[in-house]
Amino acid sequence: MRFDFQLRAFAQTDSGTDQLAVLGSDHSMNWEALQLAVQERMLQLQASEIPTGHPVLIYGHKEAHFVVNVLACISLQLPYIPIDINVPKARCQRIAKRSGSQVLLTSRVEHPFEEVPIIFPSSGPISRKGHANFSQSIHHRPEDPIRYIIFTSGSTGEPKGVQITASAVSSYLEWVDRDFGLVGHATWINQAPFSFDLSVYDLYISLHRGDSLVLSTAKQLNDPSTFFPRIQRANASVWVSTPSAAYRYLAAPDFTGAHFPQLHTFLFCGETLPNRTARLLLERFPKARVLNSYGPTEATVATTLVDVTAEVVAHHDPLPVGAPKFSSELLLEKQDPNDEWGEIIIVGNNVSIGYFEAPELNAQKFFLHQQKRAFRTGDLGKLENGQLFFGGRNDDQIKLNGFRIELGDISHQMGQLPGVKDAVVLPLKQRETVKRIIGILILEEGISPDQSYLDRLRQRLFDHLPAYMVPSELCVTSEFPYTTNHKVDRKALIDRYRKGSL
Ligand code: AMP
Repeated sequence: MRFDFQLRAFAQTDSGTDQLAVLGSDHSMNWEALQLAVQERMLQLQASEIPTGHPVLIYGHKEAHFVVNVLACISLQLPYIPIDINVPKARCQRIAKRSGSQVLLTSRVEHPFEEVPIIFPSSGPISRKGHANFSQSIHHRPEDPIRYIIFTSGSTGEPKGVQITASAVSSYLEWVDRDFGLVGHATWINQAPFSFDLSVYDLYISLHRGDSLVLSTAKQLNDPSTFFPRIQRANASVWVSTPSAAYRYLAAPDFTGAHFPQLHTFLFCGETLPNRTARLLLERFPKARVLNSYGPTEATVATTLVDVTAEVVAHHDPLPVGAPKFSSELLLEKQDPNDEWGEIIIVGNNVSIGYFEAPELNAQKFFLHQQKRAFRTGDLGKLENGQLFFGGRNDDQIKLNGFRIELGDISHQMGQLPGVKDAVVLPLKQRETVKRIIGILILEEGISPDQSYLDRLRQRLFDHLPAYMVPSELCVTSEFPYTTNHKVDRKALIDRYRKGSL
């Protein structure tokens, strides 16, 4: 059995319905159980008369029921907003408010959405409070319905909701069928939380192909002595993660092809795959394929793909990020026609219709190119023999351990802290990779902070930012240096920090 994303329904295949569909953190479901659970959920949602196109929040962490909720929403044309439990309460509530969602699906007893009027738990009675006002948020687009809205870090401190439609999902799955060379049944290892679009790799492909999906909690992932046996027992065959997540496991001597004979493919996206990581993986897993892909959430998971063979590793450092998918086009917008590098513009059906209710930002980032949707990525790229190479960002977005972060999002939150007059966030890099971020503050007059004062300020940030966005250290200065074009001179501040002269 498989899930047909175009028909929005389960479809029979040659494989039995008793095959594992999802191994979740709560329990596992075979395909038959998954189909029944989705049908049950759909009936509940239909009975509540939630209008087509109303965005629905799904909250949780790696439960099989999260998948049930996703499929029920897709089946009923309800755009869903996946939110992981690592998102702090205040941010969850902002997302709920902005989306106007009146409905929450969750298997969590505790959640931050007290204001949402209709709550569907995974078991037990539906909770209804007050009046559900659906009319304030209906986004039905019959010609190309929104499938999901993923909220990512926004430079103004307000998360941006990337809207991905049915046509983008179809274009993405068509590419997977055509170019990923997947043969036979696979068991997919999910690692990214569902609130990141990297998870759309394992989640959507496994459902689309009728494969099996193994979900693991952050706690399980952080402990190889739990995680490794879990994926060994499941005969997991396709690994999906950011390169940095895989690199972490390379520290374990038993992370080898001999210990994981079923593991035949590593699929990466989200940040630079260092040559060294690819080489080590090919040495440890000589029979496995290493696939590298590139693309922002705004273009549905990925847009380019390359098979990183031993030959590619031997000839390229940095590695290419691949050739564009057959139905997308890459344009390079150069400052000067003779420049080697230009801003990568992605054109094609896989591009989002825009951020949720953000007309000004959409006008800056999205446009039509020859009647096709196009997105300015902010990434710098160059093309060589049809292969794209990634050359960093042209703005303040960074990747830290694979997480996408707008530095402005963090400095905005730091600026809201009591006693803070101004704030800047600095990414500290080692060989072009951001290793950690630190926050530099200017405090109001009269405050003379000691370390415990700064620790308390830092602690407050956890209420507003996911843990991976909280600077590892806060420092204080009396003034910021400025560049000639009146921007805070981050480089000079980093030099001061490294010299210990802040
Ligand atoms: P996200 O929306 O979280 O997938 O992040 C998208 C951004 O991650 C892109 O715009 C790039 O800056 C970066 N990125 C994605 N894939 C790669 C890759 N293969 N190599 C380098 N950077 C990447």
